[in-house]
Order: sequence, then C-alpha cells, then structure tokens
Amino acid sequence: MTASGVFSGGGLALWRAADCGEWKATAADIASDLDVLQVPHQVVRAFRYPLSKSWDKRPRRGEEVRIARKDLPHLLPWMPSIQQWIDHITDEWPGFAFTIFEPRAEGMAVLQLPFAADWPRWTPRQAASMALMCAECGHDLRDRQNGDRLPYNIPLPKQPTKRRLVCGRCCNDGLDELERLAALAGAP
Ligand SMILES: [Zn+2]
Repeated sequence: MTASGVFSGGGLALWRAADCGEWKATAADIASDLDVLQVPHQVVRAFRYPLSKSWDKRPRRGEEVRIARKDLPHLLPWMPSIQQWIDHITDEWPGFAFTIFEPRAEGMAVLQLPFAADWPRWTPRQAASMALMCAECGHDLRDRQNGDRLPYNIPLPKQPTKRRLVCGRCCNDGLDELERLAALAGAP
C-alpha cells in the first residue's frame, strides 16, 4: 500500500475524488487491497473544498476509505511506520466528522457533515469556501477551544433549506431559532 493518507483522531483516512481517473487507485481499489490484507475499514462519501483554479466552485465530491484508530495496528505488518502515529494520536485530536448543531421545532439536533477527514488542516480560505466561517462574525468554526462558539445551522428565513453556519455567540447558542421554530410548529 503506497496511497497517501491523513491521520486524525478517528484513525487513518484516504480520500479520492469521485472521478479521479485511471492513473490513480480509486477508493474501491484501496478498499479491495485492505480486504486482502484483512484490515477492517469503511468507505464513506466525503466532500472537500473546490480547487481555487477550477471554474467549478462547488465542493468536490469523493469517497474516503477510513481505518478506525483502534484498527490501525492491523496495518503494522505492511506499514511499520504507522507505529509512530499510533503513539502520537491523542483524544484531543478532532475525529473524522465535523459536528454541528441544528435547531428544530422538536429540539436541538446534532449532525455530522460529510467532509473529508483533513478538514482541520484546510487553510482558512479553503474552509471559507466550504462555509465554515461564522456567517455573522467570520469566526473559524473549526476552532473548538471556545464552548460558546460551536457551529449552529441558522438558515435565513428566505432560504430555509440552505445551510448557514453561525457561531454560538452570534445566535445565542441556537436557542432563539429553536424557540422560533417551536412557536411556528405550535401555531395553528
Ligand atoms: Zn459569530
């Protein structure tokens, strides 16, 4: 196995664009190699930021092969260098998922956005192209140091289905929106 990957609190992830072409191993190729090596893994849909030079400004769709942190030792016979990562990863590291909160009439939902596992390493510009900055104050919502600045989905009333992330400080931790939606649902 030579495919390059990203280590996160969740384990090891290898992302491939949906249409990466014949010259590169696809997620399915990597998964079948892992099957042969009997390494437990998962293939999930995952998005990455658009390339800055591309005319297409939509997130890039792809697939990610993920090996959970607890299963990394299965790779050691073929990739001994992984030992340094096994020793290195701590619980403080962000996991695979980017978690957000979404006020709904019935309560606060916790959602995980399907991003590639390298989201903590995206540049601020790349993160901004994925709308990961607070829509009100511009705070980088990947920063989880402040408990009062977690990301909430607060769509504009005009575009109720369009995701719009706002930090907890700018939306009263989503409570105002929660109340508004509950009142709407309760109204005759
Ligand atoms: Zn904010």
